[in-house]
Amino acid sequence: MRVRALALASAVMLASASPALARVPGVDDKMLGATQGMVAVSHPLAAQAGKEILAKGGNAVDAAAAIQLSLNVVEPMMSGIGGGGFMMIYLKDQNKITILDSREMAPKNVDPKLFLDKDGKPVPWFERHTGGKAVGVPGTLKGVETALAKYGTMKLADVIDPAIAYAENGVPVNWATAMYIKDDVKKLQQYGTAGQVFVPNGTPLQEGDLLVQPDLAKTLKLIKEKGSDVLYNGEVGEALVAEVQKRGGTMTMEDLRNYTVKEREPVRGTYRGYEIASMSPPSSGGLTILQILKLMEGYDVQKMGLNSADYLHRLIEAMHLAYADRAQYMADEDFYPVPKKGLIDENYIKERRKLINPNQASNAVKAGDPWKYEGKAPGASQADLEEKPVGQTTHFSVMDKWGNMVAYTTTIEAVFGSGIMVPGYGFMLNNEMTDFDATPGGVNQVEPGKRPRSSMSPTMILKDGKPFMAVGSPGGPTIITSVAQTILNVIDHKLPIQEAILAPRIYSSTYPNVRWEAGIEQDVILQLMAKGHVFDEKPENIGNVQAVIFDYENGIIYGGADDTREGTVLGVDRVSFRMLQPQSAPQREKGPFNLQVNGAQYPYYADQKVLKEGTSYILADKLMLGLGAANQEEFKPYIVEMDGKSYLPVRKVAEMLGYKVSWSHADSTVLLEKARPAASTEMQDYYKDDKYQITK
Ligand code: GLU
Repeated sequence: MRVRALALASAVMLASASPALARVPGVDDKMLGATQGMVAVSHPLAAQAGKEILAKGGNAVDAAAAIQLSLNVVEPMMSGIGGGGFMMIYLKDQNKITILDSREMAPKNVDPKLFLDKDGKPVPWFERHTGGKAVGVPGTLKGVETALAKYGTMKLADVIDPAIAYAENGVPVNWATAMYIKDDVKKLQQYGTAGQVFVPNGTPLQEGDLLVQPDLAKTLKLIKEKGSDVLYNGEVGEALVAEVQKRGGTMTMEDLRNYTVKEREPVRGTYRGYEIASMSPPSSGGLTILQILKLMEGYDVQKMGLNSADYLHRLIEAMHLAYADRAQYMADEDFYPVPKKGLIDENYIKERRKLINPNQASNAVKAGDPWKYEGKAPGASQADLEEKPVGQTTHFSVMDKWGNMVAYTTTIEAVFGSGIMVPGYGFMLNNEMTDFDATPGGVNQVEPGKRPRSSMSPTMILKDGKPFMAVGSPGGPTIITSVAQTILNVIDHKLPIQEAILAPRIYSSTYPNVRWEAGIEQDVILQLMAKGHVFDEKPENIGNVQAVIFDYENGIIYGGADDTREGTVLGVDRVSFRMLQPQSAPQREKGPFNLQVNGAQYPYYADQKVLKEGTSYILADKLMLGLGAANQEEFKPYIVEMDGKSYLPVRKVAEMLGYKVSWSHADSTVLLEKARPAASTEMQDYYKDDKYQITK
């Protein structure tokens, strides 16, 4: 748990004073901007490499290539030539947005049962995500090379030197890298090679230690000399394939030779007059973000207020509707058609929005029928709703002085990917194959040559044809909600970009569980739990957003970075700040008893509870909020004053509200049970009575 406000204070302090010119959303007069280009990256040394390329006259694509190659060295657990990604590029001259898709591909010798055991059950997660079968044919190096050739002004050999120097001379391990190494010792040691680099002699590298990677330096020099061919058709590839096969995978040199970077069009929609372009299939990101935003567009989001219960309730319900469609309809379009138009059709969204009941969480959300809005019959598919552990890799954003932008989400899937490092060549291999469904039958089942469904969502926003924002995040399925919330924070809640990034986020893909970041207020959580949502007991970090914003009125570029790593914003002519490690907030004591409602633990703390003569009391206003007591008057006669504070007896109040009450001795817990009202089978229109509806 961290205290985000402290990190924000440091960011603002480092940015110092600034001119008060800009008046686009996401900018305020305390912020300093640049004019000659800017990078927002999760690691200061990779940011530095990108800034230098911009300063030398390179464009946003040249800088992005330098950043990616450097990230492979300074943040080797997150992305690199053993992985894949989506580079979204805005080309100012042509006013065009294009995407280079270097997502990993499934090798030729796989089938939909790849991750099933001999009894036909999915192989357990840890085993599945660390073997050779998890490794997809990597695309990043070819992606970067293709981007430079098509849209850059420099060659691979011109942008790779900082990465070589970082690998050869070493870089100090920062707090974020040290934390990730410590958390992943088991995985790093599983196959030895990576363990020798990151856990030398059995001791994990600590903050401040020098990380020197001679094998990786050798590989990068080979790439400088021979280009991507050395990986896709040469000695680096041969070593890669041998290692994957040794670890149980089937990848061959033919798979590497057949790897293709695909150029794609983004999916597009509008949000309150802004044009949003986001990642198309094989990612589910863009369509799911657009669905969430379009559902929210029907409400007065600004009036509800940032992270209020009214706002978060509707947002969670919108997420559930969108994720249900995601599971059912979104995958690699080169294999199965995706109803890209239907999913974001205005009338379809209107129908879906009617299902959001302002008073209660729906426990019956299902995928809709977007094909109908394309005049087609529903496709038969089976949705795999397996919840996998959520990790996060990397996103960075760049803008150059000509107005070109890059939003690049890049990954080896999990932190340290499959745990497999190519011996003698020093880079980690992805485990992207685990983004396919383990269970066959759906549109996202494993198939040869296919790209696993992604959530990665590099996103660009334009206003009246002018570039405005480039944004993205890592975090598996939480990418989608992190990007959507950052956009809502800027456009509706009017936060400057740095605050929009640091504002606490939530994530929920299906009823009822909600992940949340520290900073969401207890009263808000209680109100949401009273509506039927279940908040995880502890907060955790969600996503890692890096963004640039262009004040198209005044020609000034601003940036923001996340503080769950050493996120860094560097402008070419001015602006330089990076995130400090957030302080941990002290854990609040739970007190003499717990309260569970329908199995969900409620967040009440020691200073809000009293256990007296066998009766459990909770602060009156907190208890009523959590149990959804509409008529507070009826409880007044039962209020007990203790130490100047008003308490209510839990059992009495719960019984009056129709809960069945029991007491568990074993863990000193008051257990409340009440059947939830059955979900209506009739189509309801809740929206017509929603007090926050916008009627155009
Ligand atoms: N494998 C994830 C995806 O494509 C990306 C990893 C991450 O989120 O950092 O959705």
